[in-house]
Amino acid sequence: MTKPAAEKPPPYRELSPSRLLRNGSRLQQACLFGGWLVLIALCIWLGVGMVVWGWSGIPFEFGGVAVYLTVYPPLLICLLLTLTLGWWWGAVPAYFATLSLALYAGMPLFWALLFALSNPLGFAVMVIGYRATAMRRDLRGVSDLLFYVQQSFVACVFSSSGALIWSYTNGYDRTALLPVWQGWWLGAFMQSVFIVGPLMAALWPRVQRWQTAHPRLMRDGHIRSRKSLLGLLACVTFGVLVYGYATTGLAEAQVNLDALRQTMWIFYWVFVVIVLFMAFFGYQLFLHWQKSQDGLLAELQKLATTDALTGLLNRREADRRMEAEWQRTRRSGRSTAMVLLDIDHFKHVNDHYGHPAGDAALRRLAGVMRTEMRAVDFAGRYGGEEFLIVLPETGMRGAHAFAERLRQEVAAAVVKHDHVSFQMQISLGVAIVRDDDANFERWFARADQALYRAKQGGRNRIELDQSTVEKLA
Ligand code: GH3
Ligand code: MG
Ligand code: MG
Repeated sequence: MTKPAAEKPPPYRELSPSRLLRNGSRLQQACLFGGWLVLIALCIWLGVGMVVWGWSGIPFEFGGVAVYLTVYPPLLICLLLTLTLGWWWGAVPAYFATLSLALYAGMPLFWALLFALSNPLGFAVMVIGYRATAMRRDLRGVSDLLFYVQQSFVACVFSSSGALIWSYTNGYDRTALLPVWQGWWLGAFMQSVFIVGPLMAALWPRVQRWQTAHPRLMRDGHIRSRKSLLGLLACVTFGVLVYGYATTGLAEAQVNLDALRQTMWIFYWVFVVIVLFMAFFGYQLFLHWQKSQDGLLAELQKLATTDALTGLLNRREADRRMEAEWQRTRRSGRSTAMVLLDIDHFKHVNDHYGHPAGDAALRRLAGVMRTEMRAVDFAGRYGGEEFLIVLPETGMRGAHAFAERLRQEVAAAVVKHDHVSFQMQISLGVAIVRDDDANFERWFARADQALYRAKQGGRNRIELDQSTVEKLA
């Protein structure tokens, strides 16, 4: 149990119905799908009950102000299902519950089909929010809690658009719409925050343990692109503005004073400007943060893959690229060559001119290598003064020609450092990928043997991998 791992927010995960069908055991399928059907039936019953028992737009006195609340129990069940298992699990019962109550109340079928989308739409906004951010659903931290409250608000405002359909199909006038609209979103919001919130906090650790124990049934839906964040921000901004517009418009119908009406609308437009500004500002902040993070990541990536002295690939990255190239070559059946090289009597350079001059020689050598290489080739510093170059799409003959050119160019290059100048020579070993290589290390080992023979044979020379040369002959 390491602390950083425990604190890192887990990606957004949900139970996938199709994976449950494919990978789940009989018992899991029976429990989850069976339980779901029971909950769907319960939601339909409670939904119709809401109409029968008149739980819509119940007036309350709150500090001298009349507020309206609608109690809608299916919401509790469906929101919990959405947050714990995933969107489909909550959206389907919500849809059928609302559809049934609408038909029961005599709403025309077309309107009822549309009306029933209101809660699934609200849940979708919430799920997008959780998928786009790394917020936890256990509501243990202040920001997780605030995020939940804010997402609930926006989701409730979105789903309360159904109130407009309800009032329209029931032929309510505008003054009667306010209790329905306000009761809807406020009731849903209170239920989400004060009932579903604490339940989530209590349930989430268990749910998460279950998710971790059943990875084959889960789907990772985490999105963290710029586009998804922009979508989320647009949803929230739009939701808040629509909320303000609907409420102001409905309240206007109840106000007789012209001056007050005008003030209300002025207030609304100022509110619009402020919300838009905050959204813009928030987005700019995010962009700035993302840019600095991208820069930091690129810097880290560079540090992790390049050699500081020469700027060539470091050994680890060279190994990684070499293995990838080896595998690609084996699949394509083309030829790929490797040239391994080592500076001759480099100890001598260090002893004679000093270590800094030795460093300058290494940088100069890397410079010559870079000018000789093609864009598709890559070079790495493999040891102190040992380098490798991989040449894709190159046979033994081409690699030999390249090695010979490199040998001459290095021998001709002059290293200048602190008023001294000197030259150096290199020995090279060449090997190409073979069909019978068990792994890429075998390829490297053959180049290394060739280099060893070049050293033994008097240095400042090239040796080709003997086994391949024999095979070609
Ligand atoms: P040979 O021709 O057999 O290769 O002889 P050599 O003297 O080059 O022998 P060897 O390859 O064993 O020597 C490696 C030397 O390279 C030893 C070490 O002091 C030097 N060296 C390794 N890394 C660096 C470095 O980063 N900077 C400098 N200046 N010298 C280095
Ligand atoms: Mg050497
Ligand atoms: Mg060496």
